[in-house]
Amino acid sequence: MKPSATDRRLASPRPGVRVDIDVAHINRDALRVITGLHRAGFQAYLVGGGVRDLLLGLSPKDFDIATDAHPEDVRRQFDNSRVIGRRFRIVHVYFSQGYVEVATFRAAGRAHVNKQGRILADNTYGTIEEDAFRRDFTINALYYDPEAGQVLDLVSGQQDLDAKLLRVIGDPELRFREDPVRMLRAVRLATKLGFRIEDQAQATICRLGYLLGEVPPARLFDEMLKLFHGGHAVQTFQALRNYGLFEHLFPLTEQALGDASQETFSALVHGALENTDERIRAGKPVIASFLYAVFLWGPMRALTRQLELDGLSSKVAQDAAMKDTILSQLRFTAIPKRLGFQIRNVWELQNRFYRKRGKQAYRLYQHPRFRAAYDFLCLRAGAGDPVDKLCEWWTEFQDVDEATQKKMARSSRTRAGKTPHRPSRKTYH
Ligand code: ATP
Ligand code: MG
Repeated sequence: MKPSATDRRLASPRPGVRVDIDVAHINRDALRVITGLHRAGFQAYLVGGGVRDLLLGLSPKDFDIATDAHPEDVRRQFDNSRVIGRRFRIVHVYFSQGYVEVATFRAAGRAHVNKQGRILADNTYGTIEEDAFRRDFTINALYYDPEAGQVLDLVSGQQDLDAKLLRVIGDPELRFREDPVRMLRAVRLATKLGFRIEDQAQATICRLGYLLGEVPPARLFDEMLKLFHGGHAVQTFQALRNYGLFEHLFPLTEQALGDASQETFSALVHGALENTDERIRAGKPVIASFLYAVFLWGPMRALTRQLELDGLSSKVAQDAAMKDTILSQLRFTAIPKRLGFQIRNVWELQNRFYRKRGKQAYRLYQHPRFRAAYDFLCLRAGAGDPVDKLCEWWTEFQDVDEATQKKMARSSRTRAGKTPHRPSRKTYH
């Protein structure tokens, strides 16, 4: 029989281990929610990445709360809250600074796995023990009670934190089959934290990468953003390739990277990843379409070349290649429509940079994607594409006053250097 709310409220608090966490580093709203739930007689803990990061002395991105209170109980405690989610309901408690996410302890719905062992539904409430065991890694299953200043560790997570070890809870093969995205999470977290993935999990990832092919592309799109916009894109990219996971996210890119005739592509990818990390470190914004434009540039150029050899004109070939490349990638990671347009814009503007005479230069300068396309152009120059003069010209154009800009545009030839559609052999041909 299910315990009633009163039974759950009477459940005795479990003993934890005192830890040294400065409460000042914890989001005030999250603390308010925990205190409120405690007052109402429920268990409530901070859990997940927030606790992990606090214990490592990092500043957490988000604070998740786990409780034995059911969503309706939580909803009743806080006026400013809303139950969301259909399959698994959680509560968002709103504050002026945003919202805090509160989830009821739940058990992994073992009854609902598919032939490959993937979880299709997990919507059963459970005990705190079950809640801990359904989580992915031991270091992500620590429960912190800020009022008691204690951590409840049911999976020896603290020990792994100390040893800088990323350990899967339970059997890695089983857990990666349940949810293949955990393999990406393992690589992302190990890279971010500088942890080692335990040996058995490493070997399993190398074997099971292909299971990513079954994950809905929309979910892989979300993961791709976390992988490459977390400030460690260069290392994450290398680790993903070492584990053979990248080829299941971006198979066209992987193929182009191995193509000897595309010698500058690999340098372009590395340059763009470095640039992304630098921007994030400097607190500058990054757009998702930029890395897509980079990753798919090699494949798009190769296909353009092939279509040209088949007899299509340069313009028609590139148009077809752009469309086809984006469509092919959609089968692996989703690309929201808006992003698809941005990617195409960045690519198209690469040709327009050559047309800088008179008004054309201004029109291009006003284009909403000018900045991204210009960054892309200069990364290409840095990677060895023969567009360095063009990059210099546009850099200067942005630096000088309007009168000088006019002079530059007047004296400019229609096209600087090589024609855009037939670059030298040094590029992607
Ligand atoms: P980040 O620092 O990127 O936020 P995180 O570990 O907090 O890392 P979240 O996606 O915020 O990642 O997830 C919060 C918690 O939910 C995790 O710490 C983990 O306990 C659990 N979790 C998330 N994704 C999974 C998954 N695929 N399988 C099992 N547990 C998961
Ligand atoms: Mg998190």
